[in-house]
Amino acid sequence: MFDPLPPVPDSNALELEVLEHWERDRTFDRLREQNRGGRWWSFIDGPVTANKSLAVHTAWGRTLKDVFQRYKALRGFDQRYQNGFDCQGLWIEVGVERQLGLNSKREIEEFGLEEFARRCREVVVKSAEELTRGSKRLGQWMDWGNDYFTFSDTNIEYIWRFLKLVHERGMLYVGHRSTEWCPRCGTSLSQHELTQSGVYQEKSDPSLFVRFPLLDHDGESVVVWTTTPWTLPANVAAAVRPDAEYGLRENGEWVAVSRFPDDRFERRVRGEELVGLRYRGPFDDLGPGASVEHRVVPWDEVSLEEGTGVVHIATGCGTEDFELGRSLGLPVLTPVDEAGRFYDDYGWLHGLSTVEAADQIVGRLAETGFLVDSGVYEHRYPHCWRCDTPLIWRISDDWFIGVDGVRDQLLAANATVEWVPEYMGKRMDDWLRNMGDWNISRRRYYGLPLPFYPCSCGHLNVIGSREELRERALEGFEQLEELRRPWIDRVPISCEQCGEPVERVVEVGDVWLDAGIVPFSTLGWGNPEWQEHGYATGAARGLTGADLPDHPYWERWFPADWVSEMREQIRLWFYSQLFMSVVLVGRAPFKRVLGYEKMRDEHGHEMHGSWGNMIDAEDAFERMGADVMRWQYCAQPPDRDLLFGFGPAHEIKRKLLTLWNSIGFLVQYANIGGWEPDVGELDRGPAVEAVLDRWLVARTHEFVRIAEEAYEATLTVELIRSFEAFLDDLSNWYIRRSRPRFWRDDAQAFRTLWYALVQSLRAVAPVMPFLADHVWANLVRGREDSVFLAGWPEVAEPDHALLAEITEVRRVVELGRQARAGAGLKLRQPLSQLIVAGSPLAVAHAAEIGDELRVKEVAFGDVEASELRVKPNLRVLGPKLGPALPQVRTALAEGRFEELDGGRFGVDGHVLGPEEVLVERIGKEGWAVATDGLVTVALDTRLDDELRLEARCNDLIREIQNLRKESGLAVTDRIRLWIPDEELLRFADRIAEETLAVSVELGSELRLERA
Ligand SMILES: [Zn+2]
Ligand SMILES: [Zn+2]
Repeated sequence: MFDPLPPVPDSNALELEVLEHWERDRTFDRLREQNRGGRWWSFIDGPVTANKSLAVHTAWGRTLKDVFQRYKALRGFDQRYQNGFDCQGLWIEVGVERQLGLNSKREIEEFGLEEFARRCREVVVKSAEELTRGSKRLGQWMDWGNDYFTFSDTNIEYIWRFLKLVHERGMLYVGHRSTEWCPRCGTSLSQHELTQSGVYQEKSDPSLFVRFPLLDHDGESVVVWTTTPWTLPANVAAAVRPDAEYGLRENGEWVAVSRFPDDRFERRVRGEELVGLRYRGPFDDLGPGASVEHRVVPWDEVSLEEGTGVVHIATGCGTEDFELGRSLGLPVLTPVDEAGRFYDDYGWLHGLSTVEAADQIVGRLAETGFLVDSGVYEHRYPHCWRCDTPLIWRISDDWFIGVDGVRDQLLAANATVEWVPEYMGKRMDDWLRNMGDWNISRRRYYGLPLPFYPCSCGHLNVIGSREELRERALEGFEQLEELRRPWIDRVPISCEQCGEPVERVVEVGDVWLDAGIVPFSTLGWGNPEWQEHGYATGAARGLTGADLPDHPYWERWFPADWVSEMREQIRLWFYSQLFMSVVLVGRAPFKRVLGYEKMRDEHGHEMHGSWGNMIDAEDAFERMGADVMRWQYCAQPPDRDLLFGFGPAHEIKRKLLTLWNSIGFLVQYANIGGWEPDVGELDRGPAVEAVLDRWLVARTHEFVRIAEEAYEATLTVELIRSFEAFLDDLSNWYIRRSRPRFWRDDAQAFRTLWYALVQSLRAVAPVMPFLADHVWANLVRGREDSVFLAGWPEVAEPDHALLAEITEVRRVVELGRQARAGAGLKLRQPLSQLIVAGSPLAVAHAAEIGDELRVKEVAFGDVEASELRVKPNLRVLGPKLGPALPQVRTALAEGRFEELDGGRFGVDGHVLGPEEVLVERIGKEGWAVATDGLVTVALDTRLDDELRLEARCNDLIREIQNLRKESGLAVTDRIRLWIPDEELLRFADRIAEETLAVSVELGSELRLERA
């Protein structure tokens, strides 16, 4: 006996129950034991930032990882299941600052760095617990408890080792340059941080036209345009394009002629003639401005697309300005400090933020007559990806790793990687080609301490390990709780060049160093001896039992066979890993990557906490169930944004209900008939004879093969599509055509359906592990107690000829239905004849087709009773025919065409293929016609009394069935029946058979009772 199924599954309860089973039976542990020593497949998990609980977009990536690991496990592969947490950097710090109500670096330092570090760790600990809980609920099988945490001392030491090597190769340097700067966080950001989503946002800024009066030409001025008023006090020059034409307006203003083509100009000159002119700066009354001699300078990059064609240059407030200033030897004014506030020497501006200063600057410009015009400008502007503050540009000294020396190697390494989808690999190439040097320093606290100790003698000491630090420490090593600020800042070392004491720089490292080192730090690269729990060091102590493996282990598991993350990781984790790997061992750290695009809400909008369209993972588990979420993720083509939500989830539930009902059908009738499966048939395949049974077996094998290909290609889209089609075949063809056989306890039908359900569920089990294991436990007794311990279903090559045949039959039936619907004839109305043309494969199934369509006779031959209308398929033909299209269209409309073989048509000297035209066959009087490519059916719609009577009989049978249901009869109960329609007594036998009646008699009204 199988367990009976409720009409609708309670997915939340079902999934929690399965989780309990897995826990109790140690299913995952047993799977790993079973596969230990088998072929290996290496997966490396990209660390998830431990500052939150599980979100639905994180669940997407986790699902994909789990799906392919589960598949590989079914195939017997030995795998690593180490989960990773990203634990340092701004994202953690900003969260803690908010929690504590701190809003500047000064406040953090007043709060105390030791306590701040502990609070950051607390966030990580709590979040790691939450993420683990959520991921388990999602069904992700990982080696929970042996996770890697990037803030462990071990991870940090590995990065130190990398940085030392980078220094030895001469790739490390301090760059003095203008960088994007977050004034709130008080640090510069790197190029790749700016590529993260959400950085560029719409922002409105003041749009100012400002005149700079020329000193030697009374009454004349150059006019510039700017959207950053705060940079005007730092103005040092005005740039013009030497080869562009500039004009002098009547009022004495010089602007580029092409920017104002309708203006009248008194004089016109080439830009080069303006070069060298001196002008009065807008804020010469403030100290720094007065010290500068302002001049018009030449610059080929001056834009003639916007502004005035004269560009305000503030070398201390913009990257291009800085570079131009460097090449021309211009002075550099840096007006604001780390917090983005004006320095003391800016007089009345001092202490104001760049935003606060804007209004006052505009006001002053108006007073002093510098302002020509002001307005508002909407543009996309970069914001801090962590705290959302608009960025500014600031000159700072940062640590960089030079890229040029390894650029070619990076490109060559990327060429060995198989990217899915392919275009993402091209994106990586683009990034590698254009990527600037890597800014690795951040002026923050909770991060990898950069092990740089620059000495006043000029020597840069770089420490490569904790051991080396211990050897060279002058003091404070014993108080070093973790390799982290503030403790590490209390450990000066002696300079290896001059022996003097040296202190560490205060900067911490870019978080992408933390994540990029993972393929080395977690796999034990270069580690001579395996250390149990050796990864649980520093801040990670007590949080994980992860070992630090030895070098042979690294050799086995590196590079990863497969990694998967969102597309934006191309410039982040995929990049930092690739970079570090190429530097350390000269090759790519992964062989294949699956990338995927972004998640949006179901209406295509971005998801935001503040917009109320964010879906909480817990909510999704409860209301959709993890299987449905996973289905949604897996159905998504990775090259397009996923529109995630309860609407699509509802659709999926509806589809899964078809599956559930099919299982329910089998269970119900098998229990009634006492049928039991022979589980050995899962290996042998069921020996069945009927065409329909053989077809479903073949169809199952076909589906398993498609699933296999999809998993091997690490792309689930086709798997889901194919499973949906399979379900339709199974329930809307096989079960519907076979129903009476189940009533009659036909063992072959049971075997076939059971086999198809179980095998197909095994193939989709990685996608919906809960439902699959639940059903497995019910339908398969006496084999492994989990579908995941049962291995991948090995199936025979499907019978392709048979599959093609039934596909064709279903197509003919579908056309027959269309024809019926077109003529407004319900299926209950029997018809006399159907003619089928162009479908040789369906000939052997005439009886089935007739039965499905309630047609007495099905004939194969030409459909003559029709007239033909052919229209151009514009989407295809437009590009092909171009200007000839209208003529062809007219010829088709006027019927001037010739029907050729193979669905082609000759028109006006052109031959059009079947996919280039839309064919409509119109039935002549008394006939309904439908066409699909080469297949056409014509349905005789004429009715006689006999046909009408039969329709009445069918109506009656339907009525009786409803009555049976309403009377609460079981499907097997026999009845005695009275019918009021004497004429229909002629059909008593058929009525009795279909309604399980033991007697059919004439009565005054329709009535039945249990026999
Ligand atoms: Zn910030
Ligand atoms: Zn020195």
